Amino acid sequence: TLPRLPIFKAITSHDPKSIAVVHSASGRTFTYGELAHDVSSAKFKLADLAKGNAIDGERIAFLADNGYDYVVTLLSVLASHAIAVPLSPAFPASELRYVLDQSEAMMLLSSAKFQDKSDEVVKEGLENRPITAAIEKALEGDKSREAVTLEGPADGRGGVMLYTSGTTSRPKGVLLPQSVLTAQSLSLLKAWNYSPEDRLLHALPLHHIHGVINAVLTPLFAGSAIEFQFPFNAQAVWERLAAPFLPTEGEPKEKITFLTVVPTIYNRLLQSHGSLSPELQKATKTALDPKNMRLNISGSAALPTPTKSAWSDLSSGNVLLERYGMTEVGMALSCGLDFSDRVDGSVGWPLPFVEVRLVDTDTNEVIQPGEELDKDGKTRHGEIQLRGPTVFPEYWRNPAATAAEFTENEDGNGKWFKTGDVAIRMNVEGAGNSSQEWAKGPMYFIQGRKSADIIKTGGEKVSALEIEREMLSLPHVAECAVVGLQSDAWGQKVAAVVMLSEEGKIAGRGGKAWGPMDMRRALKERLANYKIPQEMKVVETIPRNAMGKINKKALVKEVFGDAPS
Ligand code: ATP
Ligand code: MG
Repeated sequence: TLPRLPIFKAITSHDPKSIAVVHSASGRTFTYGELAHDVSSAKFKLADLAKGNAIDGERIAFLADNGYDYVVTLLSVLASHAIAVPLSPAFPASELRYVLDQSEAMMLLSSAKFQDKSDEVVKEGLENRPITAAIEKALEGDKSREAVTLEGPADGRGGVMLYTSGTTSRPKGVLLPQSVLTAQSLSLLKAWNYSPEDRLLHALPLHHIHGVINAVLTPLFAGSAIEFQFPFNAQAVWERLAAPFLPTEGEPKEKITFLTVVPTIYNRLLQSHGSLSPELQKATKTALDPKNMRLNISGSAALPTPTKSAWSDLSSGNVLLERYGMTEVGMALSCGLDFSDRVDGSVGWPLPFVEVRLVDTDTNEVIQPGEELDKDGKTRHGEIQLRGPTVFPEYWRNPAATAAEFTENEDGNGKWFKTGDVAIRMNVEGAGNSSQEWAKGPMYFIQGRKSADIIKTGGEKVSALEIEREMLSLPHVAECAVVGLQSDAWGQKVAAVVMLSEEGKIAGRGGKAWGPMDMRRALKERLANYKIPQEMKVVETIPRNAMGKINKKALVKEVFGDAPS
């Protein structure tokens, strides 16, 4: 059983003088003592701003840049037993309107900087107009009231509502009650050992689970410091990481011990590293050394092996830890803290409190441990299904989607959430022998989304992610997306959309660009024939959303026209 909503108790029990939040650019710091005080006084102010309406259980949306104000707003909404709906300043007006409307927000708080934008959004096209107020107003607090001890509600009211990344369809509102947030944080605390000695560099959007749970609520839970590097800029990140290891006058900077970002950010960091001065290059290498940098985590999209290797080379073997999660469930699978438990292409084992099963995508049978191979000796593909206290209860105001994506309560122990992601499971020699008791048994390898990444060609099942991984290890390919196109002969055929590297642009015959023939030749030794893309299109850029994900349906339409996939 889980302790009752201990986030607020945790925050108030950390050393009040220790650092909770830092603004990297200005160096401004905020202690846990200030945070606890500001949250409890903002809570009173929120009640005033609601103009006599009860805010218990209501959705309170807010628009703020990454930073202290964001954190105080989020926590004071939670402390009010309301549902916090973080919005992204990068959203166009139409997207803001969609979220405000869909969540039926009763209040919209925005920083002065975004006041015009929110006024414009609220003025037009909203059925239920939220009460609007300036975040600065809420954060002034209510000076006439003493700050009280913060305590979470006993029955888990309130929470956070996050919208999915919208990779496969319109973003869905996912309700994460406080009890679910607590379970997710406790699971990560146990697995990744966040501590008051950690200082996490935060370089992610704050309206998705990765940025909010893994990189804000959980570190606060543990008493770690969060340093907001905002807006993201690769050069600035390198300079910040290097700072404690450069000779400087004045106050020395604390070293960063923890980084959790998406693969595209690791790629951007790696690409820009070469252009740093030799002095900075040296200091950043020291900063990344495992004896200084405790943990580097990657997730939200598949981690390409070349990215993982390049990062290891740069960091004296600080191997990236890959994990798998989604808005609906938080983090579900993760590699372990031991380097030998970070196997290429694998997302590890079920995290603490997470119950996982694989359901065969052909037969619908549960793949029991030891039954990973079919009668022909082929590895069985299964949909990942999850249950337990970290799983969300429902999509907001969308009972049809909720019903469609949960199973029945077959065994009386709860419904399973059908993730739509497909994985295989394998025993890996040399992995799973650590002291982390959850990191045991066969490891999981994500094959991709059932809807977009599992391509059925000539009776074979092919994972787009596996082919992408091989293509990315070729020096000619900078980025790529593998898709299935409808084919009369094959059911589906494998096709690749490719962004060439500088080398790739001149690697073809006679100095021409690398082409489909070159690709097929290069992949011959790496992949079975039926996995090699039959078509290849070269593009200038592959569009990705804020979390570095590719909408493959849209990409196919753009690159191959209306050909159904
Ligand atoms: P939508 O549900 O709106 O289409 P989305 O599924 O991209 O968007 P998120 O909840 O942010 O929204 O992302 C979860 C998805 O990200 C997972 O279902 C999975 O497909 C993908 N994912 C997360 N981590 C990994 C990983 N380590 N490797 C491969 N895929 C991953
Ligand atoms: Mg999804």
